[in-house]
Amino acid sequence: MSQPIYLDYAATTPVDPRVAELMMRHLTQEGTFANPASRSHMPGWLAEQAVEGARRQVAELIGADPREIVWTSGATEADNLALTGYMRANAARGRHLITSTIEHKAILDTASALEAEGFEVTRIAPQPDGRISPDSLRDALRSDTILVSLMAVNNELGSLNDLDALGDIAHSHGAAFHVDAAQAPGKVQIDVSRQPIDMLSLSAHKAYGPKGIGALYVRRQPQIKVDALIHGGGHERGMRSGTLPTHQIVGMGEAYRLSAEQFDADHQHLVALRDQFVAGLAGLEGVHFNTDIGVSAPNIVNLAFEGVDGEAMLMALRGIAISTGSACNSASVEPSFVLTGIGVPRPLALASLRFSFGRFTTAADIESALGELRHALTSLRA
Ligand SMILES: *Cc1c(COP(=O)(O)O)cnc(C)c1O
Repeated sequence: MSQPIYLDYAATTPVDPRVAELMMRHLTQEGTFANPASRSHMPGWLAEQAVEGARRQVAELIGADPREIVWTSGATEADNLALTGYMRANAARGRHLITSTIEHKAILDTASALEAEGFEVTRIAPQPDGRISPDSLRDALRSDTILVSLMAVNNELGSLNDLDALGDIAHSHGAAFHVDAAQAPGKVQIDVSRQPIDMLSLSAHKAYGPKGIGALYVRRQPQIKVDALIHGGGHERGMRSGTLPTHQIVGMGEAYRLSAEQFDADHQHLVALRDQFVAGLAGLEGVHFNTDIGVSAPNIVNLAFEGVDGEAMLMALRGIAISTGSACNSASVEPSFVLTGIGVPRPLALASLRFSFGRFTTAADIESALGELRHALTSLRA
């Protein structure tokens, strides 16, 4: 069987070949393999130089100072460090955290763990377009709120939050603002030098870098205090210990450098693919948009198909690699909490699919996917 058409870029992207090539040069004996923390020899210094070069590249993409970048194993760990590390370090000022009901599980499960630790959490419901309204944040703020955590781009819908408005409201109430920006690089531009953002979670593998590496941006002025979750060695200014994975880090740096360099080209490519996909859907009946195209990133289109079963639809679309709007638990199939969270009725949420495009998606891929979709809908409804 031929390879399915990959339309699941929001789950992960392939590594850009230019990134893979650079990573390979930081692994073997001929390459820059030494421990970047080894201060007593040249191979160690070279590895440290490679790590610091990548730190500058990641910082540059978001307008940060390199000293504000803390390497982590991914956005999941960055989210854990931001929420738990900040709440613990600042508990004397208050114990209340605000987030939303449609954040990634890395935020929601961390928030629940913090509740078990004695912190209080408010989860704001989004608007039907998947965005958090500034008014709902204003209503949720309390005198003991010390942190607000809201995402830049929703991973299931593509919806974009107004980070400037939300951050300003958090700040005017004396709360810090954390942003899960795992889906942002290449889709929306972020500049922490002028935006009201205090911490920001990043991941390499959603932007053509390798899996298993990410970063947390932690503002230095005014200084944000975060307690470490992983102890030992005191790496990353004490915020995250562990030998730095040079090859992963240079991979993330190069991926982010490319993301900055070709932002316009990538963005235009995504808009063209989405326009083509949306235009092709026009002839199909009973297709609902869960994604509000006008307020969403150009790489994600989440659709509900009336009168068909989501699992049957996925089976009929085996030629396309996509995600469902549901999660299989051991006992039952549950609709996505993000879709029910924006008010999609349960049966439609169960019949929803997320299509997401990327740098290597072609117009021919979109045409084939549309053909498969037409065919599947006709046969399932017959
Ligand atoms: C993928 C993703 C994460 C988790 O990132 P990892 O690097 O895979 O741990 C967190 N938040 C959002 C919004 C994501 O899309």
